[in-house]
Amino acid sequence: MVDEALVARTPDEIRALSYEWRAAGKTVGLVPTMGALHEGHLSLVRKARSECGKVIVSVFVNPTQFGAGEDFDTYPRNLENDRELLSEAGCDAIFAPGVAEMYGEGSTDLSSGERTFVEAGRLGDVFEGKDRPGHFRGVATVVAMLMGAAVPHRAYFGEKDFQQLKVIGRMARELHMGVEIVGCPTVRESDGLAMSSRNANLGSEEREAATVLHRSLEAGAKLAADGEKDVSTILRRMRGVLDGEPLVEPKYVAVVDAETLEALESLGERSARILIAARVGSVRLIDNIALPFVRSE
Ligand code: AMP
Repeated sequence: MVDEALVARTPDEIRALSYEWRAAGKTVGLVPTMGALHEGHLSLVRKARSECGKVIVSVFVNPTQFGAGEDFDTYPRNLENDRELLSEAGCDAIFAPGVAEMYGEGSTDLSSGERTFVEAGRLGDVFEGKDRPGHFRGVATVVAMLMGAAVPHRAYFGEKDFQQLKVIGRMARELHMGVEIVGCPTVRESDGLAMSSRNANLGSEEREAATVLHRSLEAGAKLAADGEKDVSTILRRMRGVLDGEPLVEPKYVAVVDAETLEALESLGERSARILIAARVGSVRLIDNIALPFVRSE
């Protein structure tokens, strides 16, 4: 029998718990999620569990990071199931506020210009931010709110959302939040598809086609590992793989500096990453892969 994780519904409740734990000398870890949990999320919880005395997981589908016409309404939600999984994974408290608890009772018009928001800066304007204007402003804002509510020592984020990890790392540093941001590796299905709550909205043919994101990333990374430094050659190879799946509509594929996210023309001494986004049916998927260092002779 697993102890049920406590569920806090308001920022004041979770802050009171966190203060109690901190006063008892515990390190508090926070894992922010939007729920519909899978092994990817649980790997973050386990990592937090191994490094912190107390683990808080937030489950909140944040309206301000979804644009008009995006999938806020159809985003999968299943708190009962999440609660079971989290209790098994050894989470101490779940912070599951409603929109009103987070944004206040007058929260129906979040775009009125009245509220305080956190601007993510240039890192939030490129790639996902370009295709989804305002997305990282919503992400940075809600993560700042979650940090304010849960007052963790450490917060855990997946490399699956690589740009998000960079935006949040920079925000925490530049706003002197005093929270250590910990990145965790991407967890994949056995066929390579990165786990994502949105995968549940893929039809069976789409689900199969979606593996092409990972296949193209692997093809690009292999070329780089074999010594190819020219980014246009790497991208051409990747496009060739993507063209094999007509159900998949690529949005961007780019080789970037892993810290600044600036597009690279050739691989060098700096650590690089390939970022990819594609639409499969009505579902938008993202993925990425680290590139091995290529030493210049
Ligand atoms: P989400 O619920 O999609 O907002 O994700 C919550 C956290 O889990 C984020 O830090 C994600 O990067 C992370 N995450 C989601 N999918 C995966 C995955 N397949 N592997 C590792 N981390 C993940």
